[in-house]
Amino acid sequence: MDCLFCKIIAGEIPSKKVYEDETVFAFADIAPQAPVHILFVPKKHLSGMDEVTKENSGAVARIFEVIPQVAGEQGLTNGYRVISNCGPDACQSVRHLHFHLLGGRQMSERMD
Ligand code: AMP
Repeated sequence: MDCLFCKIIAGEIPSKKVYEDETVFAFADIAPQAPVHILFVPKKHLSGMDEVTKENSGAVARIFEVIPQVAGEQGLTNGYRVISNCGPDACQSVRHLHFHLLGGRQMSERMD
């Protein structure tokens, strides 16, 4: 499958890995929008939030267990933001489900 994040998970394209377990891979965003900007992806390819089901949501749950752990390790003691863009209206540019962890600065109240 011609998927950028699948290639990163497989090690075919280099990344700055932050975390890995059986189902989750996390790496630094190549164009960070905050001092800490990490992408969390399920290793099994899902194109986006629109493909999450009762059958595959375990990987998503695992990501949400890992995010607070990594946020702590990154020193985000004053809070952080988690975003998943889904589809064209949300400007999703990579069709492999991912969650952005953004932190290390004061965020805007607006989220668009
Ligand atoms: P989205 O626009 O929500 O689909 O987010 C895709 C994210 O992937 C963007 O923030 C990009 O900066 C990031 N990105 C694209 N290519 C790479 C790469 N090779 N390594 C790390 N992050 C990447």
